Amino acid sequence: MPANARCSSSSHLAIRWLRAAGLDLYTRKGNRPDGDQFGFSVAGGRIRGHVDGIVAAAPAALGLRTPALWECKTMNAKNWRACVKDGVAVSKPVYAAQIAIYQAYMEPSVPGISSAPALYTAINKDTAELHHEQVAFDADLAQRMSDRAVRILQATDAGELLPRIAASRDFFECRFCAHTDRCWGLAA
Ligand code: SF4
Repeated sequence: MPANARCSSSSHLAIRWLRAAGLDLYTRKGNRPDGDQFGFSVAGGRIRGHVDGIVAAAPAALGLRTPALWECKTMNAKNWRACVKDGVAVSKPVYAAQIAIYQAYMEPSVPGISSAPALYTAINKDTAELHHEQVAFDADLAQRMSDRAVRILQATDAGELLPRIAASRDFFECRFCAHTDRCWGLAA
């Protein structure tokens, strides 16, 4: 995932505005600053993640079903406009995959979270404009991503080196990948 994808300080503004709009948004357990983040851990902790938040309730006028996963990303103006125009599934399929798998893996601890559409917030980091989108659970996508994760773990356990995403470490995704040195340091 690109290193700049996570919400940082701009997410705090988004959280405040969403709460001001009447959403009962939890970003940490008990909504305490020192509370743990919501997340999941499966396969002995080898597949895990933290969600940005959970909308526990919302004013009826907004038409949101709850509990709903909340995911928030910040991006430059060009990517943000693409997201507004085409939606997250088309403009940022990697985020859509993340949302689907988070909905699936959070279901045991937050029953109903996979049947309610997720709320996706995209922040234009150049202008602070916000885009909100409801993302229905894509069970097929979640299954494909889960299967892929399992295949990667199996290959890793077998000492098998899976193909890289690109032929050169100069590839855009590789330049922003946290595992570049280790990945490209291995024999092909
Ligand atoms: S550096 Fe390796 S792990 Fe990271 S994106 Fe590129 S191919 Fe994938």
